[in-house]
Amino acid sequence: MSAEVLALSAAQASAAIGAGELDAGELFSFYRERAEADREAGQEGLNCFTWVAREAPGKAGTRVRETVPHWPDTVRMHESAGSSLAGVPLAVKDLFCTEDAPSQSGSRMLEGYTPPYTASAVARLREAGAPLLAKTNQDEFAMGSSTENSAFGPTLNPWDRTRVPGGSSGGSAAAVAAGLAPWALGTDTGGSIRQPASLCGVVGLKPTYGSVSRYGMIAFASSLDQAGPLTRDVTDAALMLAHMIGRDACDATSLAHPQQIALPSAERLDGVRIGVPAELEPEGSSIEDGVRRCFHRALALAEELGAQVNTDISLPHAPYGLSAYYILAPAEASSNLARFDGVRYGLRAASSSKVEGATDLLDMYTRTRHDGFGREVKRRIMLGTYALSSGYYEAYYGRAQKVRTKIAEDFATAFASVDLIATPTSPGVAFALGEKTADPWSMYLSDYFTVPMSLAGIPAISIPCGLSDEHARAGANGAEANGSGLPVGLQLAGPAFSENKLLDAAHALERAIAFDSTAAHV
Ligand code: GLN
Repeated sequence: MSAEVLALSAAQASAAIGAGELDAGELFSFYRERAEADREAGQEGLNCFTWVAREAPGKAGTRVRETVPHWPDTVRMHESAGSSLAGVPLAVKDLFCTEDAPSQSGSRMLEGYTPPYTASAVARLREAGAPLLAKTNQDEFAMGSSTENSAFGPTLNPWDRTRVPGGSSGGSAAAVAAGLAPWALGTDTGGSIRQPASLCGVVGLKPTYGSVSRYGMIAFASSLDQAGPLTRDVTDAALMLAHMIGRDACDATSLAHPQQIALPSAERLDGVRIGVPAELEPEGSSIEDGVRRCFHRALALAEELGAQVNTDISLPHAPYGLSAYYILAPAEASSNLARFDGVRYGLRAASSSKVEGATDLLDMYTRTRHDGFGREVKRRIMLGTYALSSGYYEAYYGRAQKVRTKIAEDFATAFASVDLIATPTSPGVAFALGEKTADPWSMYLSDYFTVPMSLAGIPAISIPCGLSDEHARAGANGAEANGSGLPVGLQLAGPAFSENKLLDAAHALERAIAFDSTAAHV
């Protein structure tokens, strides 16, 4: 059965289970074995997972009633969303709290930590019928664009194992691309769903800020963090999102989405106005030629489908997005990560230090944070603490907030004349392992196109739009080429709560682009 099962998207698998043609238990075992083989292989495999379920779970849901206080809303939402998830197993980024599995956010600081409750997004999906298959590798505390900042070693890109899968949700993206999980949950603070989706040739959606509860997500930057799907196609992304959204009493920033998420059906783009910002190619542009070619081909296809492509729109403050983001996100992180002090969670240097015990409380804090956090996390904490310190607060944090407001206003102005905005998701294709680790700013540039939407809180989706022909792929052992071309992502963004419009447009384009999302299956 394996080849046929592997070929099914999550929506198809759930339909097959519903029709009695596929057994949910067999589907779980099939993916469990694939995921477990990758976990056991470590760096010989793709290193997508930090934990894999031992056995198929019993009937899901009994404990959810205890742990999710918004139960009545959840039930209503599922009924209106139509189809259930019918047992299709779910891979979940490590930073989501799961009461039955370690939740370590890719950090030594939380090594082996199993929380006493489950994140609302995971609980809702589980209750809708998607059992937890595995936890996926990520950059430590979601800080990174390559999954190289993980305490559990880097994840490799299934298209070319000498390259990164993107990040920080790299384990989730690579697992879906490699066919090691039918679909996966990720988080996006400045691009961490969309950029790895782009680099791995899968679909990734960052919903409107507040659409999905953040309760139980180990926080990076709370005003930006959003959970969302990483899937093989746009229909799967809609299906997963439909079961995740909604107000949650446990997250004060969560909102009742004004629309039900519908499964997309559009095949044409007649009348859809798509804007391409003038700031796409600022001076000294770093967009790779192969990415630019794929992007323009996708725009031409959109026109063939009936869209009006407007290249006259402007997001004048978008080029300042990265600078603002790398003040605001570290500032919030420095505050959020203060809780990891050796007292309340995870690592405590006093009991784990091989040298000698801590001499006093301050020494214990210092050693714990020294031993527990990796280099990038320390860099962010220092940047953030500096930006928030008295005397510098207005000059850095205050100004960055003003830029954030300007960027949100730019989008509002642009959406007066277009329905959606299109950009490449990332300026380049998957880069080589180690290529950008020594130069943080070059790594941060991966997020040039994704950060503005995060700052504005608006939804954006990345879909594969072709292969860049600029690069040969390395074979499994890094030796001989196994083909040419690496995936390129197209990003579409819309106004707040326009997920349905976004999914429909992405669906129409996906059909026309006809990217083979199974090409990197292992
Ligand atoms: N790459 C960005 C960063 O390092 C975004 C990460 C994210 O979205 N979690 O902060």
